[in-house]
Amino acid sequence: MKPQNALLSATGTTIFTVMSALAVQHGAINLGQGFPDYDGPEDVIEAAAAALKDGRNQYPPLTGVPELRRAVAEANRRFYGNEVDPDREVVVTSGATEAITASLMAVLNPGDECVLLEPLYDTYLPVVRLLGAVPCLVRLTPPKWELPRAELAAAFGPKTKAILLNTPMNPAGKVFTAAELAFIAELLERHDAYAICDEVYEHLTYDGWNHIPLMTLPGMRARCMRIGSAGKTFSLTGWKVGYVTCDASLQPNVAKAHQNLTFTTPPNLQRAVAVGLAKDDAYFAGLSGQLQARRDLLSEGLKALGFAVLPAQGSYFITADIRSIGFTGDDVAFCRTLTEEAKVTAIPVTAFYSGPDAPAHYARFAFCKNEAVLREALSRIGAWMAARTGAALARPA
Ligand code: PMP
Ligand code: GLN
Repeated sequence: MKPQNALLSATGTTIFTVMSALAVQHGAINLGQGFPDYDGPEDVIEAAAAALKDGRNQYPPLTGVPELRRAVAEANRRFYGNEVDPDREVVVTSGATEAITASLMAVLNPGDECVLLEPLYDTYLPVVRLLGAVPCLVRLTPPKWELPRAELAAAFGPKTKAILLNTPMNPAGKVFTAAELAFIAELLERHDAYAICDEVYEHLTYDGWNHIPLMTLPGMRARCMRIGSAGKTFSLTGWKVGYVTCDASLQPNVAKAHQNLTFTTPPNLQRAVAVGLAKDDAYFAGLSGQLQARRDLLSEGLKALGFAVLPAQGSYFITADIRSIGFTGDDVAFCRTLTEEAKVTAIPVTAFYSGPDAPAHYARFAFCKNEAVLREALSRIGAWMAARTGAALARPA
């Protein structure tokens, strides 16, 4: 048989699926893949159920139902003072995953360079490559996850078409500062480039940190495709409703990419998400407040067990240094051992890097879980550690 698509044949199954399957196999508490183990808001779910029964089950408009496009525009205004035309500057997609691909498709031609920041979400690199574009990787490293400004500037050149920026950042939990964003904005202007802004964790920030969309910086409005996800904003990750906000000059190409990927997104879920986006400020404050409490519980608990835990200003995740408890294998060995022996699953941080020399002693833990589940996970990790001496924690990779 002739070889199939070489890039896909060379792409492995996503680490999230691999580790979730391992968790099921070993009866482990799954703090790997980032999904809440509690349901989203009752009124949003009720709105979806009602919308299934009111006879509007055929193809919705290509760019999204008017209610949701209006709600996305209104949320841009309410949270960021970003004035958006719901008819010409919004595209609803089947999850942020599709929105990322559609936005990359909107601007990249084969041979164009696209700057990507490591650690990176698993779809970025394969999609950039599938489009025939050339990824230019710039690495942020733990424990500080600082933006290496000189390296970033060096990654931009005459062929740079776009940067893909994720803030708040998975798995780092980093929220990019106004100064960092201004530095990126200056590079985009200097090199006449676009930005695909993966902002799925926009409402999940802690300790008073505020998310700033790059799109709201001077000169950035016509360069940015800003992506949100109902999955994250309403704790309904299975719904897969995403939305792109972008200038009217970019929207037609994003819409045409969407037209060729999925064409439309289920209308019932779209209408329920519109209800969600109209929820009062207390809902959004409550969402981040509850997650901050869960973050603190897991992070303090891991620290009490001896882990060095890195600060996280946003997202669903914290990362912990596995060497700090005397584990001498790499992160992959650690996550496998923890799943098999402690019955708790985490994600190795090397999965978010493409090169061979990535930092290999950090594990990512998701804290978007019921507090009793987080406590049980901590107790299992504690019991596992107690059952082994520091030396015995070592295991050949
Ligand atoms: N980007 C990042 C950084 C994510 O962590 C995720 C996780 N779900 C997504 C995109 C995908 O979002 P969605 O489920 O809406 O496709
Ligand atoms: N965003 C989730 C995470 O980082 C996973 C989503 C997926 O499994 N594709 O854990």
